[in-house]
Amino acid sequence: MPDDSHNQLLFIETVGCQMNVLDSELVVAALREDGYELTDQVQDADTVLFNTCSVRDHAEHKIYSQLGRLKYSKRHRPNQVIGVFGCMAQKDQELIFQRAPHVDMVVGTGQLAEIPRLVSESRRDRKRALAVSLARTGGSRDEVASSFESYDPLRDPTMRPTPFQAFVRIMIGCDKFCTYCVVPTTRGPEQSRPPSQVATEVRTLAGQGVREVTLIGQTVNSYSHVEDGRTWRLADLLELIHDTDGIERIKFVTNFPRDMDNGLLEAVRDLPKVSRYLHVPAQSGSDAVLERMKRGYTVDEYREMMGRINEIVPGCAVSSDFIVGFCGETDEDFEASVRLVQECRFKNSFIFKYSPRSGTKADERLADDVPESVKRDRNARLLDLQTRICEEDNAGFIGRTVDVLVEGPSKMAQKQRKRQLLTAPHPVPGVVLFEDDGGDVVSLEDPQTTDPVGGPIQLVGRTDCDRIVVFDGNPRLAGSLTAISVDDCTATTLIGRIVTREVQHAPVVELPVV
Ligand code: SAM
Ligand code: SF4
Repeated sequence: MPDDSHNQLLFIETVGCQMNVLDSELVVAALREDGYELTDQVQDADTVLFNTCSVRDHAEHKIYSQLGRLKYSKRHRPNQVIGVFGCMAQKDQELIFQRAPHVDMVVGTGQLAEIPRLVSESRRDRKRALAVSLARTGGSRDEVASSFESYDPLRDPTMRPTPFQAFVRIMIGCDKFCTYCVVPTTRGPEQSRPPSQVATEVRTLAGQGVREVTLIGQTVNSYSHVEDGRTWRLADLLELIHDTDGIERIKFVTNFPRDMDNGLLEAVRDLPKVSRYLHVPAQSGSDAVLERMKRGYTVDEYREMMGRINEIVPGCAVSSDFIVGFCGETDEDFEASVRLVQECRFKNSFIFKYSPRSGTKADERLADDVPESVKRDRNARLLDLQTRICEEDNAGFIGRTVDVLVEGPSKMAQKQRKRQLLTAPHPVPGVVLFEDDGGDVVSLEDPQTTDPVGGPIQLVGRTDCDRIVVFDGNPRLAGSLTAISVDDCTATTLIGRIVTREVQHAPVVELPVV
């Protein structure tokens, strides 16, 4: 009988998009039900999981080198279980066992519900487990779709980075097949969740204290589901969840330009809780490149969409993604992307160097012919331009008052707080200091409710149009909507102070003597 004793410590590393962040939240919650506790020290954990991304080579490379580093520790800890799940698992499958033979389980994006069972079976039976979905060509569309199951179990409020914000998956997969992208393969066919299920989840989250929900999908505005004899689109879903008690703000990402219809824009305009912020990646400002990417729109069509956004939802912030150095991208093509960024003045842009992905049409049919140094230069130039635009547009907020949904202490405040606690005379109310196994002093406190030592600290939140704002205040404000007057800015952040209401004292009135 193999000895399957192990500590209940779980280390998990997540790379990639919001979908992966949500998947990890749900997997950890399920394992906690089985008695696991999270640790941020990989060397302490008998269960090590990697939630992976395949969108760019760099993300995969990072995971393979992490796995490489675990080879030695696995030899000395036979009861350790190492698992790889998510996009790379679905894409590379057996290849992961070949490249990292000490990995015990490989679980695709459509089998996440199996993870708790597979972890305990891998440990008990000392056998490798591979659980993946069908390839896109592995059966009929329905067969392939049903092999990718949306993973939406009950939510555990303790697993969210902030208790007031939550992602809600409204669809999985993608059917757009842009030529450079692995997502249609790794996440399977596009499938929308029933609106009633989404509404129930939002109500549950609101009951747990969530104030802001972000609806997520690879092309979230392609949402379409037939329920009760009618076809529900994203605009209908927004209306359905809008009046959920306790929810103050609703966002949705990521949008596909071709599916940005006026009905959705009118919903953003008319529903006050919906953020005036749209992430709609353009990818390139050149028609020739868009065509090779098979994005399904021209630059003029993208411009026309921007015009409709500005007309229907004035003041709406728009952000974008760009790929530079895609197959055959000339200097002129790149200059066209520069012009589009100048013209659209995006709130921000995520800029990526093209990374060829095996299994994609671009990798099979087009040469990756832009040298790495040119990709790097183009990336830096576009980023510089975008940074200048961000700074100029943020400066336009100086002197204005914005409503901010407070997320909690900023990163800087969290670091300062740790330093303060280590040097403060103890005991500090609400704080317990103890030494962890490595001899580091760590604190057990609730930063949301503990009164700050020595007055207000720097808090962070976001405006209705998704701009980051920092200001000094009490951490108890976390989760509230607070008016902030903006005094200064950087390219990424507005800097302000809480608007204090002036108390009007009634004028002293001389009463007539009667
Ligand atoms: N569904 C979204 C859309 O269509 O805009 C984006 C999803 S994708 C996971 C996120 C971003 O990664 C894309 O917008 C694209 O800019 C970038 N990306 C995808 N494949 C890439 C590749 N092979 N090389 C470089 N960047 C890539
Ligand atoms: Fe990838 Fe294109 Fe689908 Fe976005 S729309 S996930 S870029 S295939």
